[in-house]
Amino acid sequence: MYIVQIASECAPVVKAGGLGDVVYGLSRELEIRGHTIEIILPKYDCMRYDQIWGLHIAYENLMVPWYDGAIRCTVHCGWVHGRLCFFIEPHSDDQFFNRGCYYGAVDDHLRFAFFSKASLEFLQQTNKRPDIIHCHDWQTGLVPVMLFEIYKYHGMEYQRVCYTIHNFKHQGIAGTNILWATGLNNEPYYFQYDRLQDNFNPFALNFMKGGIVYSNFVTTVSPHHAWEAHYGEFGYGLGHTLNLHQHKFGGILNGIDYEVWNPEIDRFIPAQYTIDDLETKLKNKKALRERLWLSHEDKPLICYIGRLDDQKGVHLVHHAIYYALHRNAQFVLLGSATEPGLNNWFWHEKNFLNENPDVHLELGFNEELSHLIYAGADMIVVPSNYEPCGLTQMISLKYGTVPIVRGVGGLVNTVFDRDYDQFHKPEQRNGYVFYQTDQQALESAIDRAIGLWHVYPEEFRKLVKQGMEYDYSWNHPGTDYLQIYEHIRHR
Ligand code: ADP
Repeated sequence: MYIVQIASECAPVVKAGGLGDVVYGLSRELEIRGHTIEIILPKYDCMRYDQIWGLHIAYENLMVPWYDGAIRCTVHCGWVHGRLCFFIEPHSDDQFFNRGCYYGAVDDHLRFAFFSKASLEFLQQTNKRPDIIHCHDWQTGLVPVMLFEIYKYHGMEYQRVCYTIHNFKHQGIAGTNILWATGLNNEPYYFQYDRLQDNFNPFALNFMKGGIVYSNFVTTVSPHHAWEAHYGEFGYGLGHTLNLHQHKFGGILNGIDYEVWNPEIDRFIPAQYTIDDLETKLKNKKALRERLWLSHEDKPLICYIGRLDDQKGVHLVHHAIYYALHRNAQFVLLGSATEPGLNNWFWHEKNFLNENPDVHLELGFNEELSHLIYAGADMIVVPSNYEPCGLTQMISLKYGTVPIVRGVGGLVNTVFDRDYDQFHKPEQRNGYVFYQTDQQALESAIDRAIGLWHVYPEEFRKLVKQGMEYDYSWNHPGTDYLQIYEHIRHR
């Protein structure tokens, strides 16, 4: 099959979060299986150019209709760790992608509406006719709208769209000018409840809703999150739209890249280890303690790795630090906060705990250190309020670090409580799960984990191994996406 991904991120060249990892990881998996994959991205000024091989101009003078005129673009082409990527560079005073950041500009909706239009225009003008166009998140929600309302009548009637939603919180809310800019024009037609009109603001249009309504299939990043978005509060207002389109909506768990996240070959950790050689994992615990000036005593080491924000249950993360100390365990935190209040709070805690030999808070983003923490810790806490998929628990499992998670979103699909899970046999369970958002719920799960570690070390080791046996690579999701593509492709 010939598949084109249109996205605002692709790791490692453009990565702000999990979206970038998925676009890269899925493309790699599909290519290994013999499919042809191309990725279209904006040419941001601030992306990691050192991660692109052989960057050259692929197409010049791509004229993209925009309002009453057109914007001239150059399309560059290069390989990102083996994946063929096209980068669209518009030449206009708007400087759409020369902002020193990927997101966060006041005209983001115009920037990404333009990118969506330019991507389609590029396919159309270069006679590229993929079987499947796979687009992602609100930034490319208008791709299927324009494909089926405009480009279908210009030689693209056989293309089909799969649309993946990584985060329902950001939907791309805009005014009518977007319709004029993109050539959709017919305002009364699009401003209807069953098309692009936002479900709450009748004067705004919603890109993500357009993506849901017009795509041939819609996915989100875990089966449980699909349920939450459809029936619960996590659809952020799009639950009814998902309900209307439920026949073409489902959840597919993200994968992780075992080339990068694998204790057997990880070059960032001092001692590589396998499931049969868990003694070696202890060497990484020792190295981690040495690096962070922690004491070497016979205690479990609990960690947290992730953004520090409300979505991640930051108050419970904070509580976990003090509760671990209270239970005579050690705690390592690696996290960054973008919100100034939270940032100050954690800096204050860091200074306060600075002399304590049982705790270390590392505030900032440090990929290399994260590998050592995954390898060196005994347990990880993931007390999220909201977690569409979550990668940290899947990485931890691979490294034999037992996850203690709140039962939301993708965490429900990946971590199964050792003591209480009703759907998995004891030998299939791999961690601890709590459900409420209060401190007692977290404490009781941590108690159970620490208790097992101290009192039944052999049982704890068994749990570690059961976790390491899970396969959360791209293998399964790759098959699932291919089934969807087969299902929707034109025959
Ligand atoms: P998000 O909601 O941020 O996408 P995920 O769990 O899906 O959360 O993915 C988080 C990814 O980012 C993981 O690979 C994790 O190891 C990494 N990560 C998060 N915070 C940090 C940090 N401060 N330093 C290094 N890596 C981090």
